[in-house]
Amino acid sequence: MEDELRCVGCGALIQTTDPNGLGYVPASALKKALDNDEDIYCKRCFRLRHYNEISPVSLTDDDFRKLLSQIQDTDALIVYVVDIFDFNGSLIPGLHRFVGANPILMVGNKSDLLPSSFKRSKLTDWIRQQANKNGIRPIGVQLVSAKTNDSVDDLLKTIDEKRKGRDVYVVGVTNVGKSTLINQIIRQSTGIKELITTSRFPGTTLDKIEIPLDDGKAIIDTPGIIHAQQMAHYLNGKDLKIVAPQKKIKPRSYQLNPEQTLFFGGVARFDYVSGDKKYGFTAYVENNLLVHRTKLINADAFYEKHLGDLLTPPSGDDLADFPALVRHEFKTTEKSDLVIEGLGWVTVPAGVVVAGWAPKQVAVLIRRSMI
Ligand code: GDP
Repeated sequence: MEDELRCVGCGALIQTTDPNGLGYVPASALKKALDNDEDIYCKRCFRLRHYNEISPVSLTDDDFRKLLSQIQDTDALIVYVVDIFDFNGSLIPGLHRFVGANPILMVGNKSDLLPSSFKRSKLTDWIRQQANKNGIRPIGVQLVSAKTNDSVDDLLKTIDEKRKGRDVYVVGVTNVGKSTLINQIIRQSTGIKELITTSRFPGTTLDKIEIPLDDGKAIIDTPGIIHAQQMAHYLNGKDLKIVAPQKKIKPRSYQLNPEQTLFFGGVARFDYVSGDKKYGFTAYVENNLLVHRTKLINADAFYEKHLGDLLTPPSGDDLADFPALVRHEFKTTEKSDLVIEGLGWVTVPAGVVVAGWAPKQVAVLIRRSMI
């Protein structure tokens, strides 16, 4: 069999014949990518990355709808993987409808990034609340790190207990770490590597990967669905590594007076708008991301002048297309985290007005502090 090429965005099998089909890449672009040893993106993912053209697979793709309705019709345990640093960017539109009566086990991935002071039980509670808000009532929420393999064995135990002799479907949008998790699961199931079968979801052109279980059932990996509301779609791979946390976060504290601003590179901004005095604000963002302090009154002009030089990322080709930052204001009544999805958060004292700024599609929200 020929080497299988897959889109690094959505995982679709790459093809050069049907421009409207999944995984299409023009033959010339494919050749260029292969010659230069570059990542291969299908046309849809490429356009999403480079032009912010939003075409979520779930809404436009017939195959994807078929796949979803298949899950609805089967009796299975659904394992729903989310990125704990990007809950909104992990949402699957309509998930609660398409899982039907099947139970959902939620997995919060990337726990290796959490600082030691972080209260994990508060995070699982928060994930549950956010899920409920979106019509999902998980039977459990578990934190893991697919990267460091932390708690993956616990997860496998829970899966085995909860699946009650049924198949397991693993679902998640792209970038949450679903592939990394699946690979860990495969590695833990010793000797199973050769047994992985790739077949089509009936009636669709979507491939599925099955990890067989002892009782003839399987863990089934479903294709990642692109979620447009992720920082990942505004930055190239190099810049994304500077913005998305890569290692355990080291908190950075700033004593701010009212009307002071922190820039996070050029991708986000935090304003201490008003309050009765100077307070300490702690940023939990990627350790290598530049945090630049300035006066609120100068912040707009400073951003305009320095975006792309002092304030990076974004940089290079991403600069021209980088969307304007949108402001979200909050008044706190308790110690809170101002969360910028995909980036991290800033802990904020009670009784102040703050604002978070991020690209239009990126969610900014406030929650009770977890530290
Ligand atoms: P998928 O699109 O959901 O299949 O995601 P991938 O498995 O390709 O992972 C997306 C990105 O997240 C990659 O850069 C991974 O290295 C990173 N990643 C995946 N799992 C973890 C994790 O547990 N911790 C951390 N820090 N990064 C992770």
